[in-house]
Amino acid sequence: MASSASLIPARVRRLAAYVPGEQPTIPGLVKLNTNENPYPPSLRVRAAVRAATDDRLRLYPNPTAAKLRERLARWHRCAPENLLVGNGSDELLALATRAFVEPVGCGGNAGASERRATAQATIQFFTPSYSLYPVLAAIHGARAHPVALRPDFSLPPLVALRREKSWEFDAALSFITTPNAPSGRGYATAALKALCAAQRGVVVLDEAYVDFAEENALRLALEQPRVLVMRTFSKAYSLCFQRVGYCLGPVPLIAALEKVKDSYNVNGLGQVAALATLDDLEYYRANFRRVRATRAWLSLELDRLGFEVFPSQTNFLLVRPPRFSAREWLEALRARKLLVRWFSAPEVSAYLRITVGTDAEARALVRAARAVLGSAKG
Ligand SMILES: *Cc1c(COP(=O)(O)O)cnc(C)c1O
Repeated sequence: MASSASLIPARVRRLAAYVPGEQPTIPGLVKLNTNENPYPPSLRVRAAVRAATDDRLRLYPNPTAAKLRERLARWHRCAPENLLVGNGSDELLALATRAFVEPVGCGGNAGASERRATAQATIQFFTPSYSLYPVLAAIHGARAHPVALRPDFSLPPLVALRREKSWEFDAALSFITTPNAPSGRGYATAALKALCAAQRGVVVLDEAYVDFAEENALRLALEQPRVLVMRTFSKAYSLCFQRVGYCLGPVPLIAALEKVKDSYNVNGLGQVAALATLDDLEYYRANFRRVRATRAWLSLELDRLGFEVFPSQTNFLLVRPPRFSAREWLEALRARKLLVRWFSAPEVSAYLRITVGTDAEARALVRAARAVLGSAKG
């Protein structure tokens, strides 16, 4: 065994892999831990996927998801060359790492100064945000550079970032989740625009939750030479299972991503499902409205029970629970068949992240929270 382990490079041996939220199959469980949409994909999507499960399964899918790319281009008023479809936006984040960042010690361009070589190997992101980013850096052998958000999880203004010197304007790649996870906070497009314009490396705006928000920053990817926007069909379009995301941005950056992707990175049924989704956007928009309404109700009810609730532009709430630790709440809710998410990272370990769910699920959560608080009195 020792000899097998010695075959693994230290970078991989030391790697702390990304830990996805649990996908348990407990009957009757209310699953509010991974921000899946509580509403099913539209009937058209289900019919399209069923119709496509025929002899075609034998064949490779279209390598660039050409039809989907064209439909997305029409929707977003850009050229198909401004778009790349991925196996979920997680794949696109990994492709950006591969395409734009040098592993540490690969030196960058010959003769580059040490400072420049470090910048070329740097992946930068705010914390707390999506915990996959540091893992991507570790896998690639790049340098991860986390920069703290304000205590209320707001974006530090550009002048403060310049003054405090923590944010690196020459980092090869910066990931900004907007609206953010797990805080749920939305960032003003004007602030993002200023930050992107000041940046000398590539900026990825990860808009996984943008359909639940008031603003989006898509136009920055069409206006600025260094900005990519990533979107996914997973959360807002009820399609986690099919793994489809896309990236929009300047043609040269998209072409670079395309070079480093697997040939058939997006499975055929995923392409079919995403295309059918775009035929039924009204259905999804109604779901966004429902999620936002449930979010408002749940925020108010949890606030009344003594939870500190952060304002959310997403399909989840970050809350600081009263009386017991967040970890204890996780277990107490789980015992009542409600699964929420808790992160051990120190900046968020006092909080729970709760997916909004349907009205019935939100009511079940509030009932369970009341029961937890009630049983504590007795
Ligand atoms: C869920 C999520 C993703 C990944 O979405 P997939 O398309 O399912 O891979 C990316 N970024 C953030 C911030 C997310 O929460």
